[in-house]
Amino acid sequence: MKILVVGAGGREHALVWKIAQSPLVEKIYCAPGNPGIAQLAECVALKADDVDGLLAFARDNAIDLTVVGPEAPLTLGIADRFRAAGLTIFGPSQAAARLEGSKSFSKDLMARYDIPTAAYRTFDDRDEAAAYIRTQGAPIVVKADGLAAGKGVIVALTVEEALAAVDDIMVAGAFGAAGSQVVIEEFMAGEEASFFVFTDGKNILPLASSQDHKRVYDNDEGPNTGGMGAYSPAPVVTEALHRDIVETIVRPTIDGMAQDGCPYAGILYVGLMIADGKARVVEYNARFGDPEAQPLLVRLKSDIVPVMLACATGELAQTELAWHDKAAVCVVMASGGYPADYVKGYPIQGLDAAAKIDDLIVFHAGTANKDGQVVNHGGRVLGVTGLGVTVAEAIAKAYEGVEKISWQDVHYRKDIGRKALNR
Ligand code: AMP
Repeated sequence: MKILVVGAGGREHALVWKIAQSPLVEKIYCAPGNPGIAQLAECVALKADDVDGLLAFARDNAIDLTVVGPEAPLTLGIADRFRAAGLTIFGPSQAAARLEGSKSFSKDLMARYDIPTAAYRTFDDRDEAAAYIRTQGAPIVVKADGLAAGKGVIVALTVEEALAAVDDIMVAGAFGAAGSQVVIEEFMAGEEASFFVFTDGKNILPLASSQDHKRVYDNDEGPNTGGMGAYSPAPVVTEALHRDIVETIVRPTIDGMAQDGCPYAGILYVGLMIADGKARVVEYNARFGDPEAQPLLVRLKSDIVPVMLACATGELAQTELAWHDKAAVCVVMASGGYPADYVKGYPIQGLDAAAKIDDLIVFHAGTANKDGQVVNHGGRVLGVTGLGVTVAEAIAKAYEGVEKISWQDVHYRKDIGRKALNR
């Protein structure tokens, strides 16, 4: 088979790495890819949101399966366009991707199908939103309705902070069109976890549990980022809770979407808040999480290609995935200054030394080649994933790799996975 992977981050490097192990695959392309991916696949100079270009490429090169990494092309309808052209693609339709693209769409679905989540109301009027916040009090959560690159969510600790957030979103237009509506939500306390399932729109195939670290500094301090590290399995998701999540959250979500006439096929990410042994939905994403994809795919033993093909063609019969027993911990190495401004182009040292370590794998995210050297080229630059018999061993392994690698102003968290040890 010839496979095209769309995207350029650590998630896509992990996907390409996993797909490359399948005996079904003869050639992998990645658009646009990165220098790490280029070691395993032919990189194609097409942007991830260039739907016309990607469609023409897939047609011209007789691609058997296209795998979409990021959300942007999904919300632009890449899956619909490919299917209309008779091409096989892994990823939800534009209508189904609204689960991620519109907070009010996903909150309304959860309300209709009794899926546990925070109480909420949607407003398109600033004064009504402000009045509601005053009646509810703080802490309270303010969200821009549309896609805001993970930055449109303000967890306000005071009423004043919440009112300022509404003004930022609705009056100052901090998130453009994404902020014409706001969702005001009950604050949920607890521990977060990420839950992924493969689905063909009817059948569900859950993945192992995982946990992300969204804040930029140790002890979950500082601003939110795309994710500074992740590990799998997440002990907060016990076996009983895992079953419960499938029954009370995933099953009604997938059935509800089908019943509403927009079946969801692809990988569904459910962000959860767990308290007192019960899970509630924080958000849905229409794609693999990054960095969670990195430790998850390193732990996955089953061939991923038949699973993605079955999801894409509505024939998902497999009910279980096989996993390596070892735990995996991924530490993200970022450019100094991220998630705000940072300087690009510093040469990265130590990649060869890290590559020699057993049970360690380095996925590239924001890297580029410059004058024959790999340099930092994005906010999140590398994902260093270590495997170990215990989470503690996997943490030690990941940091053994991290310590071999350096560039000017590099930043990474020193406490990835510690939450799992504290249980
Ligand atoms: P979202 O983009 O909806 O995932 O929100 C980003 C982050 O904000 C989440 O990962 C949570 O840490 C936090 N968050 C969102 N909604 C809530 C909520 N209702 N209660 C507490 N924290 C929340």
